[in-house]
Amino acid sequence: MPRALMLHDESPRARLETLDEDRLPERAVRVAIDYSDLNYKDAMAVTGQGKIVRDYPLVPGIDFAGTVTASTDARFDADDRVILTGWGVGERYWGGFAEAMRVDADWLVPCPRPLSTREAILFGTAGLTAMLSVMRLQEAGLSPGDGPVAVSGASGGVGSWAVSILAHEGFEVHAITGKPDQGDWLTRLGAAQVLARDDFTERGRPLASTHWAGAVDTVGGQVLANLLAQMRYAGKVAAVGLAGDAALPTTVMPFILRGVALLGVDSVYIPFERRRAAWQRIAALPNALLTHMQVEEIGLEDVESQAHAMIEGRTHGRLLIDPHR
Ligand code: NDP
Repeated sequence: MPRALMLHDESPRARLETLDEDRLPERAVRVAIDYSDLNYKDAMAVTGQGKIVRDYPLVPGIDFAGTVTASTDARFDADDRVILTGWGVGERYWGGFAEAMRVDADWLVPCPRPLSTREAILFGTAGLTAMLSVMRLQEAGLSPGDGPVAVSGASGGVGSWAVSILAHEGFEVHAITGKPDQGDWLTRLGAAQVLARDDFTERGRPLASTHWAGAVDTVGGQVLANLLAQMRYAGKVAAVGLAGDAALPTTVMPFILRGVALLGVDSVYIPFERRRAAWQRIAALPNALLTHMQVEEIGLEDVESQAHAMIEGRTHGRLLIDPHR
């Protein structure tokens, strides 16, 4: 019988429970979960912020990787290695903070060779979203010769993968972080410059001196507004997250006077083919990128405390969850 972290709408909110098999949702594919991970959205769900969870009780966990143990869908057989990210899993539907889960076949992507399931979830939603951001910028025409690319929230999951992937693609990356002690690590990931988040949090002019040809923003709020004001002519900004603020206190000036493009990035409901294409690009990245990523492995019982730390901005890199620990 699988163990799972279960969220309830009464205290204690997060409880470790052992589930009878027949309590798992009636869905086509049963997956034995090797690894899940802690994303910002998971941290919001576990701590009860932002109305991520609609119905209780709920097993959180917006992504996981594992091995199929049973399937009534022709697309999957026992022993297939699979990845799940998004689709409302861990928000509306029971998710990955469990030893096993039954899910819809439509939600699964085959785990591409040569990635192990642990390596796949080392990327997880964060790495997938970073890759989708890079694809979005490149499809909009951004190339390394255009100039430097800024990444905000650089020490976080999406941010650190964005730094790493952009540097691998040949871009000059400027990492913006609130954690000066992570500067050396960000440099090892490939950042050419490490900039202090404090320099981006005050309200600035609608148009300021120009620095960047591109940006990946995981923070939102004033940081994104200041990035927009400092983009070079025809700069391209991928808006990914709201770790700082969901508001965007900007003006139309960067758009109408400098032709700046603000590109939305969503990893939750992207269609299967684009999802698979992004995973293929991830699988083709050199192994050195994985070895440079900072990773901590935790068990299900550690999730609640780490979720609070993440909301308070005290985590960095990737937090993998081994449900069998
Ligand atoms: P993490 O917590 O791993 O990273 C967020 C980073 O943002 C932190 O490490 C920190 O980086 C910075 N940060 C944290 N708090 C604040 C604050 N109050 N003000 C400014 N910066 C802050 O989260 P993820 O990487 O998992 O997610 C990042 C964002 O992207 C989240 O908002 C998440 O919801 C969103 N997201 C969106 C997706 C999509 O499909 N569009 C998919 C995945 C994530 P530092 O200290 O280096 O500045």
